[in-house]
Amino acid sequence: MRFVFLGPPGTGKGSLAWLCEQRVGLKHISTGEMFRQEIARNTPLGRRVQRYVMNGRLVPNALVVKVMVSRLTPDILAKGFVLDGFPRTQGQAAGLDRALAKYLAPLDAAVYIDSPERLLVRRLTGRRVCSRCGANYHLRTMRPKRPGRCDHCQGRLIIRKDDEVETIKKRLAIDRKAAKPLLAYYRRRGGLARVNGTGHIETVFVRLMRLFRQRGWLTSSRTANTARRGNDRAQNRRRN
Ligand code: AMP
Repeated sequence: MRFVFLGPPGTGKGSLAWLCEQRVGLKHISTGEMFRQEIARNTPLGRRVQRYVMNGRLVPNALVVKVMVSRLTPDILAKGFVLDGFPRTQGQAAGLDRALAKYLAPLDAAVYIDSPERLLVRRLTGRRVCSRCGANYHLRTMRPKRPGRCDHCQGRLIIRKDDEVETIKKRLAIDRKAAKPLLAYYRRRGGLARVNGTGHIETVFVRLMRLFRQRGWLTSSRTANTARRGNDRAQNRRRN
């Protein structure tokens, strides 16, 4: 099955997509994470996208679509995937549909994870990331064992440049503007669904699995293994 998760930054798309990979076997692909890795490795792509990512601005459609489509290998198309943070504009959504049509592997659904803005700001301002290994934490919901230090590598926890308050506000405003035509695109196209993104991530995940089953997007055998798992939660620290 092939899904995209839509919704503003901080709504939990990344955590939900990661849980889908761990528990349902769908490949999780995040454009934001992909770009941050390219920047950290100082690759030609990383250098091209750096100024956009650092300032919370959108990377141009043509470049994002090209990079994303190149990651959709035959294996991933067959296994099923969840795209997180892509598409963000109507142009990207249309580009994705065109590419998937060529592979005869159309998208099954676009799931919008809905959360009120005050919750998004609270989530994003509390986010911390390890300066060494990139693991994610949150001051309220995913605290490290030792304040300011990563549980995995003891690296120093920092605020991501694009999680600073002013940049967050800019990212949310940019996202709001792009979201309307994007949602209208999927409404016209069909296959748009909404999930309430408030509450603990496990609660939201249960809602998501209920939706998947109700719509017949995933069989009950594939979603049977989706109950809460303690070690998932520990590993979940690595995701936002
Ligand atoms: P995220 O982690 O999804 O919030 O993405 C971090 C940053 O990467 C964004 O603020 C953008 O600069 C860039 N980015 C990620 N995905 C996209 C996309 N689909 N289109 C354009 N820019 C993107």
